[in-house]
Amino acid sequence: MTQYIFEFGPEKTDGDASQKNLLGGKGANLAEMARLGLPVPPGFTISTECCNHYFDLNGHFPDTLEAEIMVAMANIETQTGMTFGDPDNPLLVSCRSGARSSMPGMMETILNVGLCSATIDGLIKKTGNEWFVYDAYRRLIMMYSDVVMEKAEQITPTDGMGIRLNLEMIMNNLKNDKGYNNDTDITTEDMKGLCHRFKKIIHEYLGRAFPDDPKEQLMGAIGAVFKSWNGKRAVSYRRIEHIPDSWGTAVNVQAMVFGNMGETSATGVAFTRDPATGDNKFYGEWLINAQGEDVVAGIRTPNPLNNDTKNKQNQHLSSLEDAMPELYAQLYDIRNMLESHYKDMQDIEFTIQEGRLYMLQCRVGKRTATAALNMAMDMLDEGTIDEKTMVCRIDPKILDDLLHPIVDPEAEKTASRLAEGLPAGPGGAWGQIVFTAEDAVRWAKSGKKVILVREETNPEDIEGMRAAAAILTARGGMTSHAALVARGWGKCCIVGAGALKIDVAAKALRIGTRIFKEGDYFTLNGTKGIVYDGQLKMKDASENPKFKKFMAIADTFRTMKVRTNADTPEDARTAVEFGAEGIGLFRTEHMFYGSDSDRPLFLLRKMILSKTQDERKDALDALFPFVKKEIQATLDVMDNMPVTMRLLDPPLHEFVPQAEETQKEIANALHIDLEEVEKRSEHLMESNPMIGHRGVRLGITYPEITHMQVKAIFEACAELIHAGKHPLPEIMVPVTCSEKELEFTNKIVTQCHEAALAKYDMAKIEYMFGTMIEIPRAALIADKMAEYAQFFSFGTNDLTQMTFGFSRDDIGSFMNDYIDNAILSSDPFETLDQSAVGSLITTAVERGRTVRPEIKLGICGEHGGDPASVVFCHKAGLSYVSCSPYRVPIARLAAAQAAIQHS
Ligand code: PEP
Ligand code: MG
Repeated sequence: MTQYIFEFGPEKTDGDASQKNLLGGKGANLAEMARLGLPVPPGFTISTECCNHYFDLNGHFPDTLEAEIMVAMANIETQTGMTFGDPDNPLLVSCRSGARSSMPGMMETILNVGLCSATIDGLIKKTGNEWFVYDAYRRLIMMYSDVVMEKAEQITPTDGMGIRLNLEMIMNNLKNDKGYNNDTDITTEDMKGLCHRFKKIIHEYLGRAFPDDPKEQLMGAIGAVFKSWNGKRAVSYRRIEHIPDSWGTAVNVQAMVFGNMGETSATGVAFTRDPATGDNKFYGEWLINAQGEDVVAGIRTPNPLNNDTKNKQNQHLSSLEDAMPELYAQLYDIRNMLESHYKDMQDIEFTIQEGRLYMLQCRVGKRTATAALNMAMDMLDEGTIDEKTMVCRIDPKILDDLLHPIVDPEAEKTASRLAEGLPAGPGGAWGQIVFTAEDAVRWAKSGKKVILVREETNPEDIEGMRAAAAILTARGGMTSHAALVARGWGKCCIVGAGALKIDVAAKALRIGTRIFKEGDYFTLNGTKGIVYDGQLKMKDASENPKFKKFMAIADTFRTMKVRTNADTPEDARTAVEFGAEGIGLFRTEHMFYGSDSDRPLFLLRKMILSKTQDERKDALDALFPFVKKEIQATLDVMDNMPVTMRLLDPPLHEFVPQAEETQKEIANALHIDLEEVEKRSEHLMESNPMIGHRGVRLGITYPEITHMQVKAIFEACAELIHAGKHPLPEIMVPVTCSEKELEFTNKIVTQCHEAALAKYDMAKIEYMFGTMIEIPRAALIADKMAEYAQFFSFGTNDLTQMTFGFSRDDIGSFMNDYIDNAILSSDPFETLDQSAVGSLITTAVERGRTVRPEIKLGICGEHGGDPASVVFCHKAGLSYVSCSPYRVPIARLAAAQAAIQHS
């Protein structure tokens, strides 16, 4: 029989921290904390495997589950001395989701399960606290009706609000009518009345009575938590984070402890170190007389955990250190114990029930990039972790944050400061404000940069948060869901900016007397938590000495080289600063895109639209000095480093002139009329130019084009060598599918080489000749290609396009459907498809080496900067990856981690 239930608690614990796949992160760590002897209320985890079986059985529990649950419940009863459903001494439990990796706020939790007409009086008698019991009951009613009775049943609210908002509205109206500021001001009688009304409304609204049987409540809650794995926001989060659907979620059922039993009870969330800065300071937030989600839901501004970490927003509130010093000391000891046990920063949840501390959760805490770097380096210095562990501590993707722009401090000095909030996600960003997630997605799609402004943090907004350049909320603390999610993504985010008075219906907000409307520009400093009016200047992140040291240590483990894709001397310089060790792709045609390229662009167009060889030669001769100059400037910057110069590979349609004025100019230059230019342009239009007359094909039709470029490369090199430099060009032929294309091109290269030697009176110009592998045929006949090619560079953009038959140009119109329907787990243009494109690469590597064992192998498609693809390249035995300049550090770190983990 499959074991679905794993118990944890002071007396019996089945699992441990190593079983995250089966027990989910939360379940595995509850078990681990129980093993460490920490005060964990007893409970049990229902495995992720059970969740998958539940879906296999179309939403029915496996036969043996209920009996297993009852046995485990009986064990909780023995340990707590309470009985589930007992009228005198009732046990209440919580049901919480917990997947393999943390998905903050994306799935469901139901608290106080087991509270019903039969147990209410007994609990009141036992606790002597009628208010608390009815507060707990109304929470159960609100959560249960929303999660189990509406969402899990896939009922779409006809009023656009849903049961939860309806109930909240009733509660808010009551608070307004009676002048109650906080939930805790509501009297016992009013609380009782609310519960009564809530149940009546649920019956009317959902057509079903609120269940009054504890066992029915429990089984309903467990099923609903499983179902929340396939809820809309959980699915969206999984797509964004590339979490497979097959993981499933575990459910944790645990004896309730109550933070809302009065002034000696509390609940809180803490990090063993500061998650924003990485400082070795115990950091957290807590609320007195509150339960579970109150801290993270952003309903009240939470109190600071200790005096050391107070901030502007909470400095007037009392810390746990002052309010409950003994419990704080106990918590502090636990913090130290967890850090030395896990050797990493932990994010913990705790509850204090009538002066007794309980631990409800611990997991590796999300952190900003700066914090990740500082913590990793500090822990190395403290001797807690070794160098390999330190290098693997930072997700290469978050390095983006250390390299990304901040608000220019000079511009900030004179900027108009509108509001302040908590610095939840670092860096700076400007954008136009929008007030709903849908608007954020829509505006972003149309190419606008937006700041998503929300009253409070709501995980339902996930897509909008993703699409926005930054997130700003009026309420919520540093541990609120928006803050966690934004930090995980390294997105600029400010929460709890209380001065914002938001009117979503009017798509406007007020700060003091000023009104701002949708579309107005704001700038956020997410590192300090400041909101500015307008669009401020941004600045690249400053040099971080720790970052350099960290990268230097990482580099000692790396076996692959990292090059860059750069087409200008400026980009090349930036990339070298980021640690590039060469150029893996110099796209010659890109020199015609930038500023100051009017003249060469004109000449290129003239060349493209030439009909006779003489016309073309004239245009090429005129183009030659420009090409040579650009090549020389880049080779100069990259002195002593290899530079892969790709022969022209222009999608021709991009270069055909559209404006009548330019067409006229070209007509004059070619001595033809406008009509003829139009005719020739039309002739060049291809229905799918991405697989059209590109790359080597162009050189086969017009060898003089190849000739001009190769001549430019050799002459540029010859002049650099005369000036005492050491250029290392690698001439690369693009879009090849036959060794004959290489033979054909190599003849031109050899001729040009000899001509340059003669012209400059030299014995040797060092160079290599190779090809891109970006067509499946080329990969499959790599042995033949290697007869001519001294190196292969995998052009995985085109290789992906041609393997899948997906056009690079119009993939956007259907890729989301492929991801949403889980046909593909990620966009293959972003993360290398290892099964097919990957196997073409390994085949080419293998076959190429049979003919040329020392063949140089690299990748220059966009995947060269994607960490998962870099790991693949390492395993495939490539000698280098090449990516855009800003991604060079990411590739360096990913390559180092690949060497540590896969050597
Ligand atoms: C490729 O196809 O992977 C490549 C690098 O070339 P381009 O993107 O210029 O086609
Ligand atoms: Mg290509």
